[in-house]
Amino acid sequence: MSRSVSRVTTAGRGADLVVVSITAAAGRDPAPSGPVVVVTANVHGDECTGTGVALRLLPLLEAQLRRGTVHVYPSLNPDGLERRARRVPEDDQDLNRLFPGDPAGSPAERLAHAAWTDLVTRRPDVVVDLHADAPGAIPYALLDRAVSLRGRVRARAEEESARLAAATGLTVVHEYPEARYQRFRLDRSLTGAALNRLEVPTVTIEAGPRLVLDAAAVEDTTRACMALLASLSMVDAPPSAPARAGPQGGPWRRDAGPRVATSGVLIPRVAAGVLLARGAVVAEVRSLAGVLLEEVVAESAGFVLAPVERTHVVPGVPVCTWAMAEGT
Ligand SMILES: [Zn+2]
Repeated sequence: MSRSVSRVTTAGRGADLVVVSITAAAGRDPAPSGPVVVVTANVHGDECTGTGVALRLLPLLEAQLRRGTVHVYPSLNPDGLERRARRVPEDDQDLNRLFPGDPAGSPAERLAHAAWTDLVTRRPDVVVDLHADAPGAIPYALLDRAVSLRGRVRARAEEESARLAAATGLTVVHEYPEARYQRFRLDRSLTGAALNRLEVPTVTIEAGPRLVLDAAAVEDTTRACMALLASLSMVDAPPSAPARAGPQGGPWRRDAGPRVATSGVLIPRVAAGVLLARGAVVAEVRSLAGVLLEEVVAESAGFVLAPVERTHVVPGVPVCTWAMAEGT
């Protein structure tokens, strides 16, 4: 096993990125080169689960990696991590909509370019990006849309991404439908760009709350990553996969949940991950005097992925991120 640490200079005032690379020892395997996997975390600086997972993965990989190389980026947005900010503090842009970045652009575009350029030089076979959703959310593996790819290339990238996502043991959810995926510029997220520009299979894992490391979320996500690496024969299978928090079936896709029509106090009525029929009550809105103003019902069969992270709502606010059957 070899371990090396490199730093990526971001050409702005921002902190350097740290990359820790673990390579399996040659000689233990007839094909010691093996796959190259990139694991990135904390592109949204307030989403800390992945940073905790990265730091857990390093000693595990040092002890257990038997084939290939894993490059771990514990934080793609270290200034955001320091400031508890989702965006890049220097210019308040969402780094995860800017890839592959611009060397002559804004600070966030330069950071995206520096991170992207470093990632590309690693020649990854797989990219795994770690995010956090909201308190009360279930952990899930999210699949990008290969909107720029066609034919066999697209099928191969999508199938391999889906296979890797399933290997995590987590509930697998496809991204928003294609038109919204592009309108939200998700093809310029890190995984969206890796899939669409590098034709590399990608998986995003969403787990745990933001801002604080949640032991269960870190544990689940670490096991999910090890299970994914085991499916590539890079490590032995972990003793147990994470408990699947969502319902069986699918494939599922991400959507906005039903929206409230009134202002008031939002009270969730169901836990995330519970399969509901169309018309089931997901949440209610009450006045501060306790009067029931509205029951918010599911517009399709599906389940809550993550409750919205707010208590006072106004008309038009979705009560949750929703998962529904793909193709509906
Ligand atoms: Zn995120």
